Amino acid sequence: MDNTLLNAALWEQNQTLLIGGVALISLVVGSFLNVVILRLPVMMDRDWRRECKALLDTPALSAPEAEPVSLAHPPSTCPGCGHRIRPHENIPVLSYLLLRGRCGACRNPIPLRYPVVEALTAVLSVVVVLHLGIGWYTAAALLFTWALVALTVIDLDHQLLPDSITLPLLWAGLVVNQLTGVLPLRDALWGAVFGYLSLWSVYWCFKLVTGKEGMGYGDFKLLAALGAWLGWMALPTIVLLSSLLGALTGIGMMLFKGMKRDNPFPFGPFLAGAGWITLLWGAELRHYWP
Ligand SMILES: [Zn+2]
Repeated sequence: MDNTLLNAALWEQNQTLLIGGVALISLVVGSFLNVVILRLPVMMDRDWRRECKALLDTPALSAPEAEPVSLAHPPSTCPGCGHRIRPHENIPVLSYLLLRGRCGACRNPIPLRYPVVEALTAVLSVVVVLHLGIGWYTAAALLFTWALVALTVIDLDHQLLPDSITLPLLWAGLVVNQLTGVLPLRDALWGAVFGYLSLWSVYWCFKLVTGKEGMGYGDFKLLAALGAWLGWMALPTIVLLSSLLGALTGIGMMLFKGMKRDNPFPFGPFLAGAGWITLLWGAELRHYWP
């Protein structure tokens, strides 16, 4: 199946309108990603504590149950004053600008990252549509992009890549390739397997040699997911590109921010970035590797 829902003429005529629509939708998605980024780690932490409590069955651990948190509940409030965010204060990017980056009630600053995540989501989505055109594979590639944005920011915040995103992303890659035929299912399957095993073996070699843990299991699962989407042939590109991006950032942080060599920093954002670049420009990039 090829990736064209619209013929070329229709695409030419309506391109501006379509791109505008994609930008608006992805701004709203970016706003939802902010909620996921903020709440998913809290939900995981609560689950983990509940499980520990149930396992150990110790009353000493039982703190009073906090208010339940899900992606839909409770409604968003200002952490400074508890002011409920009203719909007109919740418009992606625009509300931030209109409120001049401050809470409408207590004037506490709103973190800049909220509009940044929204704008980033919109820009990346528009690039995907401009590059791939309109079609089913593009719709899938947008979901892929949004998942990577959420994973990147959660990993930057918590050094954590939640299974509840990486594992469905892996399955989705296999299913999307089977349905669209962009890659043979065999290539996607071995992409997932070798993606996982390659980092898993690096992890164990590093651990045996240095006695330290160089990365987390979340990284293996993310590379498995990228392999499922992009095929085993894309793995060298993703690994080389993410290592290059990671090394440059690490050197930059040591030079300019005085970061120590042993400071842990997450690898997930580099894998995600390399995966996204490979989705769009993998074929071109492959020419550069020996
Ligand atoms: Zn406030």
